[in-house]
Amino acid sequence: VTPKVASGGRLLIVGGSDAGISAAIRARELSPGTNVNVIVGDRFPNYSICGLPFWVSGEVSDHRRLAHRSIGELRRLGIGLKLGQRALRVDPANKVVTALTPTGRTRSYPYDRLLLATGALSARPAMEGLDLPGVFFLRWMADGFALRECLAARRPRSAVIVGSGYIGVEMADALTRRGLSVTIMARSAVLKTVDGGMTELVRGELAKNGVRVIDAAATAIESGPRDRLRVVGSTGVSVPVDLVLVATGSLPNTELAHLAGASLGAGGAIKVNRAMETGIPDVFAAGDCVETWHRLLKRNVYLPLGTTAHKQGLVAGENAVGGNRLFSGSVGTQVVKVFDLMAARTGLLEREAADAGFKPRTVELQAWDHKRYYPGAVRLWLRLTADERTGTLLGSQLVGHHVAEVSKRLDILATAVFHRLTVEQIAALDLSYTPPTSNPWDPIQVCAQRWLRG
Ligand SMILES: Cc1cc2nc3c(=O)[nH]c(=O)nc-3n(C[C@H](O)[C@H](O)[C@H](O)COP(=O)(O)OP(=O)(O)OC[C@H]3O[C@@H](n4cnc5c(N)ncnc54)[C@H](O)[C@@H]3O)c2cc1C
Repeated sequence: VTPKVASGGRLLIVGGSDAGISAAIRARELSPGTNVNVIVGDRFPNYSICGLPFWVSGEVSDHRRLAHRSIGELRRLGIGLKLGQRALRVDPANKVVTALTPTGRTRSYPYDRLLLATGALSARPAMEGLDLPGVFFLRWMADGFALRECLAARRPRSAVIVGSGYIGVEMADALTRRGLSVTIMARSAVLKTVDGGMTELVRGELAKNGVRVIDAAATAIESGPRDRLRVVGSTGVSVPVDLVLVATGSLPNTELAHLAGASLGAGGAIKVNRAMETGIPDVFAAGDCVETWHRLLKRNVYLPLGTTAHKQGLVAGENAVGGNRLFSGSVGTQVVKVFDLMAARTGLLEREAADAGFKPRTVELQAWDHKRYYPGAVRLWLRLTADERTGTLLGSQLVGHHVAEVSKRLDILATAVFHRLTVEQIAALDLSYTPPTSNPWDPIQVCAQRWLRG
């Protein structure tokens, strides 16, 4: 339903990525009379940061193809872009943002409504050597350019990735494709967004593709002879290497909001309500810089994802021009491709569900993705957690070959978690079937039936 909104006024947005541009587009769509300007810290508005690993790997050849929309398309939508400008402070009393222009001058932008969509920053773990040449992070297009330039100019033969989250494992894949010998060094389990036997499957896929995993916290990066580096781990291990990528997570970029007087909440992110309001009059915030409403936990958490940033941006853009929409919340659905394997999850892990006061019970199952008599059948590993008391699905994880429609299946379960379906209702769903793609009972329904049997 298209809401009725007030028209006119000035909407200023700081941040031109998923959240900021989603907001700008929605505001212009609903209120063509509103003057919408976006201050963007770099020259790459509306770029898909999620695509960086695939550009580094060479699977995407031209960085411009990562743009969801071109600058021309955005301008044709009536969005004013202030590129390469850094917002320095917000004066909420006088409704003005001060920004630093590329020529080093400051410029004032008055606003009627302001949206902070400043995203996140790469976490910098407490260790020596992060600023040495040959050490990289991956968050912005500039990081991607620096990494690609190093790969082309210095032709490194080996890399250590510090961190084993989804960016770490995606980059292990990407750098292996570029011909590097890759080691992951991490203090926590590989891809700890999944649990049980799932983690081991991801680890197995890494090993199969020659990626070595060292279970140790990296404590220092040292420079070695002939431009080489050395990564030292907590177990005393020391790995000589040509290139280091630090991928230990992201932190909300809240400096501007904090200076403006906004309160910080979960994970140090900007506190917002579900209308994406910060509590400062006429100041909204969305995306990786804010906390996120979790539908199962019924509280705010820090869960920075592109999917969420787009939705929060849309809500903020709508409300900033007088709409009245609430963010529906997240259930933490995510998927990652590691070489030939997809690993996906939605909802809560068993221990998270127990901590939240549910009475979780979990089943794990292996199944063929489609009828075995049809060529190409591959195995799927499924894990399903539901509440003993109500039979409601709390979470699920799926791992399998990328041809096994892992994300389609996981998304059915994500829909179920989102709408609080019971395991019995999932077992009864009318899902599609033809031998090349599934079974009369889809593997997720077989897993549901297994759970129901107790
Ligand atoms: C390598 C990588 C892979 C990812 N893969 C996935 C994935 O597969 N799926 C998924 O859901 N999510 C993924 N993500 C997460 C996703 O990219 C983020 O959730 C998303 O980009 C957040 O969008 P955002 O608009 O909130 O912030 P950001 O993308 O962080 O953008 C922030 C914007 O604010 C601007 N900015 C910041 N401070 C200022 C300032 N002071 N002045 C002016 N401008 C400023 C920046 O220039 C930028 O335009 C990935 C992230 C990375 C790094």
